[in-house]
Amino acid sequence: MTIVDAVAEPLPRAVIDLAALRHNVAHLTALIAPAETMLAVKADAYGHGLLPIAEAGLEAGATSLAVLEIPAGLVLRHAGITVPLLAWLHGRDTDWRAGIEADIQLGISAQWQLDAIAASGADRPAVIHLKVDTGLSRNGATREEWPGLIRAAVDLEQRGIVRIRAAWSHLADASIADDEAALAEFRDAVLEAEKLGARFEALHLAASSAGIRMPEARFSFVRFGIAAYGFSPFDDSTGAELGLIPVMRLEAPVTEVHVGGTTHARLGIGYADGVPTLGIAKTSIQLNGRRCPVIEVDADSMLVDAGPHRVEVGDTAILFGPGTDGEPTAEKYADWAETIADEMVTGVAARVPRVYVN
Ligand SMILES: *Cc1c(COP(=O)(O)O)cnc(C)c1O
Repeated sequence: MTIVDAVAEPLPRAVIDLAALRHNVAHLTALIAPAETMLAVKADAYGHGLLPIAEAGLEAGATSLAVLEIPAGLVLRHAGITVPLLAWLHGRDTDWRAGIEADIQLGISAQWQLDAIAASGADRPAVIHLKVDTGLSRNGATREEWPGLIRAAVDLEQRGIVRIRAAWSHLADASIADDEAALAEFRDAVLEAEKLGARFEALHLAASSAGIRMPEARFSFVRFGIAAYGFSPFDDSTGAELGLIPVMRLEAPVTEVHVGGTTHARLGIGYADGVPTLGIAKTSIQLNGRRCPVIEVDADSMLVDAGPHRVEVGDTAILFGPGTDGEPTAEKYADWAETIADEMVTGVAARVPRVYVN
C-alpha cells in the first residue's frame, strides 16, 4: 500500500443537535403530564455539555435540573440559571455553605450530611430532599436508618436550619417486578415519615425507565436522563421506537488514505477520544454514504476499510448519530462494544470539541 495523502492536526467533533434535545424533552414531558420533568444534566449532561443542554431543556419544558454535585450546580447558577437544582452526591470536600447559599437543593441520605448542613454557617435554611433506599443500595438511607434521619430532619426544620421539600428514591430498573416492589417500599417509607411529622411538598422516584413505562411511579416529577439524550432505557426497544432522537453525532475526518486492493482510510479519532476498543470485528462506521468495517482502533486514530470506494483526505466519517444518514446509532455501536449508549456519549473525551446546531 502507498500513502497518497495526509494532513496535519485534523479534529474529530461531537455535533450536538439542540433541536433533537428539545424534541425529546417536550415529547417526554407531554407523556408524563401532569408530572413534570427534572432533566438530569450530570456528567456534563452525559457528555453533551452542561450549559447548552440545561438551557435547551428548560426551553423545551423541563422545570428543574439534576446535577449530581454542588460544583456543577454552581456553574449553572453563575450562568444565570434560576430554576430548582438538585445535587445529591456529597463528600468530604463538599462546600455545603456555597451550595445552600446558591439555592441548590440537596439530596440527603445520611445523618452526617445533616450534621454538615447544621455546621455549615449558611445564612439560610437548606432545602432538602430526603432519600430512602428502596432496593438499589446506592446512597439512600436504609429502612433501618430512615426513621432516625426523618426525626433529625424534622428537628432541624423546627430550628430553621433546613426546609424539607421532598422524599425520593431511585429505582434499579432491573425488572418491572423489582420496580413495583420498590414503589411499594417507597410509599411505605413516605407514610412512615409523615407519621414522624415530616411534610413533603414533592415526591419523586422515576428516572427514564419508570418515567416512560410506570405511570404510578411519576409522582411530582420524573428525573429524565438517558431518554432526553435520545436513547431507550430498555433492552427491548430503541430510542427511535420511543419517538426519541439521538442528540449527539460523533464525526471524525479522514486523515490518510491507503489505496491498494482495497481502500483503507485512517480517521482522526481513537480510544483517547472515547472510541471503544471492544467489538471492533463487528463494528462499522459511515463514510461517504457507505458502511465501512473498522479494522483497528489506536489511541488517536482508527483504520476503516472502504472497500473499492473512493475516499479522500478531509472526508468526514460518522461514527454514530441519529441514524438518518445510514450511520449507526450510539445504541447500535454500544451493542457491538458490549456497553450502553450512556457510556458511548458520556465517554467522548473532553478534548473532542462540542459543536452546537439548531
Ligand atoms: C442518572 C440519574 C437519573 C437519570 O437516569 P436515566 O436512567 O439516565 O434517566 C435520575 N436519577 C438519579 C438519582 C440519577 O443518578
